[in-house]
Amino acid sequence: MPNPKNLTERIFQSPSKYIQGPNAIKNAASYLSNLGKAPLLACDELVYKIAGKSLIDNLTAASFTVTHAHFNGEASTLEINRLASLGKDASSDFIIALGGGKVIDSAKNVADILGLPVAVLPTTASTDAPCSALSVIYTEGGEFERYSFYDKNPNIVLVDTSVIVTAPARFLAAGIGDAVATNVEAKLARNSPNFGKLMPTELSEAIGSKCEEILFRYGRQAYEANKAKAVTPAFEAVVEANTLLSGLGFESGGLAAAHAIHNGFTAIHAMHGLMHGEKVAFGVVAQLILANAPTAELDRYISLMLSVDLPVTFAQLGIPNVTDEELRAVAKLSVAEGETIWNMEGAISEDIVFHALKGANAASEDYLRRSGWKKLD
Ligand SMILES: [Zn+2]
Repeated sequence: MPNPKNLTERIFQSPSKYIQGPNAIKNAASYLSNLGKAPLLACDELVYKIAGKSLIDNLTAASFTVTHAHFNGEASTLEINRLASLGKDASSDFIIALGGGKVIDSAKNVADILGLPVAVLPTTASTDAPCSALSVIYTEGGEFERYSFYDKNPNIVLVDTSVIVTAPARFLAAGIGDAVATNVEAKLARNSPNFGKLMPTELSEAIGSKCEEILFRYGRQAYEANKAKAVTPAFEAVVEANTLLSGLGFESGGLAAAHAIHNGFTAIHAMHGLMHGEKVAFGVVAQLILANAPTAELDRYISLMLSVDLPVTFAQLGIPNVTDEELRAVAKLSVAEGETIWNMEGAISEDIVFHALKGANAASEDYLRRSGWKKLD
């Protein structure tokens, strides 16, 4: 419900430092030295091989004592508590998250439990998790459980674009799906409290529209550069849009229906292999339908999604035969108490969302037919 408490104060929050560029991780020691000397480094096995080992070698050479914790892959309460006790046993003085959204969300929670600073080193530009003072916590089985909020944003976000470019382009595309949602959602959440629990500032509005501008200008070009492993200015711009602008924009601007629908999709087991931003992309189309967007506006967003191979139809989401019963389950979760969909003005109900999901699929299929769209390889 928009501004139920009649709040008049505005809030903007952000990480203390954001650093981005090729080979940024090589210089990590100098950026991290004022956080402590004994970090707990959380990363999974694959990321350890790609960037973890060299980071540990660099930090050790600069006389840090690094405790390496293998992340098990899920941002669940059980895993977070396990990492926190590792950090406690090792007397760690700060936390490093190296990897994707789930390890970042876990490490932020671990830092909060232990009362320690946290440095976030994303290895993909697939989510807007790095900059915010909140985490999405999942069950052991990978279903959305809750948002967890912290007093502070990460101390440092260090983005190495020469590492990010080695990730499959699908990750960048997913980040684009998540980042496209930022402005679309913030615009409808403008009269509601943001994640700082106060009202949005003018700045968050400017960030949202800059984020969107970059994605429309450079999204496709950056996606192709990623496939060619080329760190170009367009690639740098989109990494920044996905990570910094989207992160600041959603946290201080607020979310609406697209992310609530994403959370609803966790009800469909067949979609668990999809990335966060891929489900959010469809959620954006569904939110535009809910907000009664004209066809020309829908087309603009659908064509941006398709230009980076994001799914906009049930078939593209891998659920061509989805039943009404399943869609109703998605709609039901999307309108759960406390969901961000309630930030929107206007009527919202399970039934209204159910129809918007079908309407989004129909609008996207119509666009595919009209435009003669074919996937380019
Ligand atoms: Zn998101």
